[in-house]
Amino acid sequence: MTTPSLIPVKPEVAARTRIDSEAYARLYRESIDDNEGFWRREGQRVDWMRPYTQVKDVSFDASDLHIRWYADGQLNVSANCLDRHLEKRGDKTAIIWEPDNPADAPRHITYRQLHEEVCRFASALKAQGVGKGDRVTIYMPMVPEAAVAMLACARIGAMHSVVFGGFSPDSLASRIVDSGSRVVITADEGVRGGRAIPLKGNVDEALAQPGVDSVEKVIVVRRTGGRINWFEDRDLWYGDLIADASPDCPPEAMDAEAPLFMLYTSGSTGKPKGVLHTTGGYLVYVAMTHELVFDLREDDIFWCTADVGWITGHSYVVYGPLANGATTVMFEGVPNHPDVDRFWQVCDRHRVTILYTAPTAIRALMREGDEPVQRWRRDSIRLLGSVGEPINPEAWGWYYRVVGEERCPVVDTWWQTETGGILISPLPGATDLKPGSATRPLFGIQPALVDAEGRILEGATEGNLVLLDSWPGQMRTVYGDHQRFIDTYFKTYAGMYFTGDGCRRDEDGYYWITGRVDDVINVSGHRIGTAEVESALVAHAAVAEAAVVGFPHDIKGQGIYAFVTLTSDSQPSEDLRKELVQTVRACIGPIASPDHIQWAPGLPKTRSGKIMRRILRKIAANEHDQLGDISTLADPGVVEGLVNNRLIR
Ligand code: ATP
Ligand code: MG
Repeated sequence: MTTPSLIPVKPEVAARTRIDSEAYARLYRESIDDNEGFWRREGQRVDWMRPYTQVKDVSFDASDLHIRWYADGQLNVSANCLDRHLEKRGDKTAIIWEPDNPADAPRHITYRQLHEEVCRFASALKAQGVGKGDRVTIYMPMVPEAAVAMLACARIGAMHSVVFGGFSPDSLASRIVDSGSRVVITADEGVRGGRAIPLKGNVDEALAQPGVDSVEKVIVVRRTGGRINWFEDRDLWYGDLIADASPDCPPEAMDAEAPLFMLYTSGSTGKPKGVLHTTGGYLVYVAMTHELVFDLREDDIFWCTADVGWITGHSYVVYGPLANGATTVMFEGVPNHPDVDRFWQVCDRHRVTILYTAPTAIRALMREGDEPVQRWRRDSIRLLGSVGEPINPEAWGWYYRVVGEERCPVVDTWWQTETGGILISPLPGATDLKPGSATRPLFGIQPALVDAEGRILEGATEGNLVLLDSWPGQMRTVYGDHQRFIDTYFKTYAGMYFTGDGCRRDEDGYYWITGRVDDVINVSGHRIGTAEVESALVAHAAVAEAAVVGFPHDIKGQGIYAFVTLTSDSQPSEDLRKELVQTVRACIGPIASPDHIQWAPGLPKTRSGKIMRRILRKIAANEHDQLGDISTLADPGVVEGLVNNRLIR
């Protein structure tokens, strides 16, 4: 089955939305022509304790770099996510919690209940001496208490650093040291895919390491009641603290530019960066993008499947939805437990209207065929979203046809931990869709493509993706290493923010992310993006997932080496290998023909599910003794198998 390469906005969708294509074009132009005026108005989305008079104070010049938004305003993020909804939405469900085991009861937490719990926990943190500017590490499973902990920190002006619950004690330790956290909030155990994860045990191990000495208190949520060690003078039960604490805890007035949180990037390209976001601009930006991109309505049930340990979880499980008074679903489990139909079961159970997930999950579920999807009705869903990697047109088409039954627009949202929120994405009522393209910039966002020298390229072209101007949700620094911030993002091209991604722009002005610039392959002088070759491979019915890298080639400079994972009912064979090469030749051209195809039962991925091509590059080049930082790898076992079966020795 093929999906058309252009899918016009459906009239019934356009009729319901606030922004149609004409409004998009007009508002976009206005937002660039009068950028400051635009953001001055958008700033009104949130409630200020002291109104701002200044809006934008930005320089991208590396010698005088500064990024400040709404700098003289004051506000509190938790008050915006909770208190301001109490009057109208006190009894509305803020969080629906879906546990790992579908036989266990979900929880529905109203805005009023969430407000009370956050106030109590914020009081408890204060009683432990935590206050403005202190750092708190949150190492939690996907339970509502994780959101409570984040919001409680925001309420008292402490910065949180959420560390994904799948990370090892070593990774946790280095992040605690980097942040200098005084408090760690965790759970006795996490539960994912039917397995218990010893979170408290991992914290104990991390804190026992030499040099990890900033932590005074460990606060433990009881999730499973499993056996744990207890250190009387250090450990506290969350439940006890909440029971004893005052429900009265007024929100601190925070400067707009006060830090809200720090969060590490996924580590796809190297050592993770401790990205710092601030209070006012971040909140304005996530509230705006959550409303526009998802065309939010009062009765939506919004489900973003990301873990709160990633930026997507921060911006679109917690802060965006709650700032907008929406109902957000928090899912503790994984897509394939107890069975591969779990996502669709959850959608039906909670009448999810908007589903936002990642290509890695879509490809994994597509691999299992259509039947598990069709076991469920999915009739509540009206909009589908994708984030995290380029989505191959094949996977996009499956998501659109099989999951959404051609009824639901798919919004492919491009952004980064660094950007705080979505920058390039369709708007459901305004943008004709092209499978595989993140389409067009949101209001106030000025992407550009530049060549290696930083010259701006016009029209339909391909180049390095930069942003010419700031937006309120932009990161402000790398925590504790401002020079790294400047060097990484502002030194490559003078006066521009460099994203690290390669991109093509077509004749309609649509943006197509071609992969990381570091991953671009140069075959006999032709620059070939990994995403396009991978998409060609995935277009073959037998292929579930593919990762493509360059390797040193005597004649061509670089050759193309593909790692290919087949669907569950396909077998590797020499004929299939030839067919795949043929497919790529047909889709892209002979220049992109893979020189080698290695069958890969699994691919090395970050904990957030992104393919780590830099590791594959080392395997392809027969340099597997120099893999670099692999601490963020989800399953190191995958690498060994690939090394053992490498084709170049
Ligand atoms: P690190 O910066 O540590 O190498 P990372 O870049 O994977 O890790 P994230 O901030 O989680 O960390 O990911 C942002 C990147 O993910 C983007 O720069 C882009 O490469 C990719 N990405 C995210 N969404 C999309 C999308 N919709 N289409 C294409 N690529 C995407
Ligand atoms: Mg990155």
